[in-house]
Amino acid sequence: MRYQFEFRPYQRRFLRSLTTNHGKWDIREGIILRLTDETLKVGWGEIAPISWFGSETLEQALDFCRQLPGEITDEIIFSIPDELPACQFGFESAWEWESEFFSMPNAQCPMPHAQSYSALLPAGEAALNQWETLWQKGYRTFKWKIGVDAIAHELKIFESLIHTLPAFTKLRLDANGGLSYEEANLWLRTCDNLKANEELALEIEFIEQPLPVEQFQQMLKLSTSYETAIALDESVATLAQLTACHQQGWRGVFVIKPGIVGSPSRLRKFCHQYLIDTVFSSVFETAIARLAALQLAAELSQNNRAIGFGIDHFFEQEETWLQSLWKDL
Ligand code: MG
Repeated sequence: MRYQFEFRPYQRRFLRSLTTNHGKWDIREGIILRLTDETLKVGWGEIAPISWFGSETLEQALDFCRQLPGEITDEIIFSIPDELPACQFGFESAWEWESEFFSMPNAQCPMPHAQSYSALLPAGEAALNQWETLWQKGYRTFKWKIGVDAIAHELKIFESLIHTLPAFTKLRLDANGGLSYEEANLWLRTCDNLKANEELALEIEFIEQPLPVEQFQQMLKLSTSYETAIALDESVATLAQLTACHQQGWRGVFVIKPGIVGSPSRLRKFCHQYLIDTVFSSVFETAIARLAALQLAAELSQNNRAIGFGIDHFFEQEETWLQSLWKDL
């Protein structure tokens, strides 16, 4: 099959700017792809790189799109190099696009119920006041960032938090690789002790990426030393990293960001073959990549784990912005 290929770079301002450990993030930049096959069937795709998390840069993705001819084939789509994981995702999801989303006027992006999402609590003490609003919106799984402040202070807030959150809440602690080995042991021991306390009906689901990517062996050791599960995130940004960690014995949780992990078809194959324990998560993509990513999450999620996609839209006017980008729609 041959496809007419077009692309448009985009810039979208977040409704609220995002604070990451790489600073403030105000504008999401990416590329929208359109493939039209010989029967005039249209497929949409989105390349939404996060280079500081391990994907290619926007510039590399743009260079790749610019050097392609106006007409491309399946061979081109399925042989994009591994150095361009966000491109692999964008092109393959355009290739397998099935949604009616953009062909129906005012279509809403389908969103599962809040209960199947994890909500990010604000860092530090603010979490204590804000979980309730999120709870009222229907969230039952929360994520709280650790490794931001001194550990003694964080443990104190944590103690209050677990006694404030209602029974049957699940809590994820995300360190973004910011703990030392000793601190990670302390957090895991604290969580294990909580688990032993039968009066507490709240569940610490896992600690996410306790140590930096380079300290894989230490995380492997931690994962077999404690009851509390550990999830890898930064360590498994791309399919190549995910495969390497699995080969080296990782049997804990894998956080998968479909937008940058790479080829969806190869991800499916890997998940089906090894039945890994996954949590799917957003890269702050627009509705196009989100549709494809949620589809993958629905297909490949094991153990009913909540997915990390915000239920509140990140951007304004999700339904009409594509028309402003693509004047002939
Ligand atoms: Mg994380």
